[in-house]
Amino acid sequence: MTEPLTQSSSNRFVRLVEVSRILNSTTNTDELLNTIIREAANLTGSEAASILLLDRHTRQLRFKAATEISSEMIDVAVPLESSIAGAIFQSNKPLIINDVKQDPRWNPGVAQAINFQTRSILGVPMHDIHEPVGVLEAINKTSGAFTAEDVETLSILADLAGVAVEKARLIDELRAAYDELNELDQMKTGFIALASHELRTPLAIILGYISFLREEAAPEMASQLDSVLTAAVRLRTLIQDMLNFQYADVGQTRMLRKPIDLVEFVQQVLRDRQETPMIKHQKIAYRLSSTPVPVLIDPSMMEVVLNNLLNNAIKFTPDDGNIGVRVEKRGTEAWLTVSDDGVGIPPDKLERIFKRFYQVEHHLRRQHEGMGLGLAIAKDLVELHNGRIWAENRHPTGSHFRVALPLSPV
Ligand code: ADP
Repeated sequence: MTEPLTQSSSNRFVRLVEVSRILNSTTNTDELLNTIIREAANLTGSEAASILLLDRHTRQLRFKAATEISSEMIDVAVPLESSIAGAIFQSNKPLIINDVKQDPRWNPGVAQAINFQTRSILGVPMHDIHEPVGVLEAINKTSGAFTAEDVETLSILADLAGVAVEKARLIDELRAAYDELNELDQMKTGFIALASHELRTPLAIILGYISFLREEAAPEMASQLDSVLTAAVRLRTLIQDMLNFQYADVGQTRMLRKPIDLVEFVQQVLRDRQETPMIKHQKIAYRLSSTPVPVLIDPSMMEVVLNNLLNNAIKFTPDDGNIGVRVEKRGTEAWLTVSDDGVGIPPDKLERIFKRFYQVEHHLRRQHEGMGLGLAIAKDLVELHNGRIWAENRHPTGSHFRVALPLSPV
């Protein structure tokens, strides 16, 4: 038969359950260590308590928290050999020393430094799930000597504490890894932004000259210039892909909105890429509102949207095909439409093409390049502007991609 619990042991038990709950809900290491020492002193009726944890590299124990410690004592090392804490750690057993002065392992240095009189110590090893990680000590029992019940209570507390400390350490490690990853991600985004920006200007100059020469060139030169033009346009598509990555998971905070006339904006973007449809001998027809269409947009973001739509129109429309760009006012909205008379989109895929990595063509039978990100990013960016983007089939072939943005008051 188990013995009935005395009032004091039942109180300790209730408190231990409560402490276990507190330790479980704390992930901040300092807070955790302070709770443990406070409870260690309370539960054993001691004046003070301290925790020493094993330094995995030097294999010394180090003070991590103590009720009577000053901040400069934190991290002070205690050797595993010839110290009371070391003996507890190495034997992996509790130890009671009722008069420390009689014990040759007693090292008065630390207590003297903080002017604290140590008389008696009860120390127990702390474990995480696998191995001993440190020592928990209760110091100076206020009345009488440490009892078997104190040993039991402190051992339970040390076990709860060991697991909680390990959990907090793992969470700290995870946080540090996450921060590092975030930092790397930001460096990557910064690099992409810089690289794509630096490459754009010289490439625009190259493209401008080649297109000019291509128009002026005799037929025998034209085909050679076409290859140069194709290569340069391919380079620009790669830069545009880089820009797309820059805007994957972009937030509202990165938006730099400006009041802009959408007609002028579209004309500018198209002017910068006149040569692109030339390669496939496609024609671009414009239907741009004759009056300004004011919108509040981040021009770099909206340029990515328009370029993604134009690239797709060019890509999915055969040689000699037709592309149309339209800007108009519709009620309280500005509508931008990019149309083509290319392959079109199966009606049941009109929504799905805006999901990341979704491509209508099976990846094994693909004829067109691309990653399946352009439309998903365009959708994110349009929605950041409180707008909508969708696709419609065009009669008799091809598709319309429409972007609706709120008109801004002029
Ligand atoms: P990517 O063009 O890199 O494949 P997108 O996200 O831009 O990625 O487009 C996703 C898919 O939507 C394309 O693979 C294609 O199947 C379809 N699509 C996009 N634009 C058009 C278009 N103008 N005509 C036909 N299909 C299109």
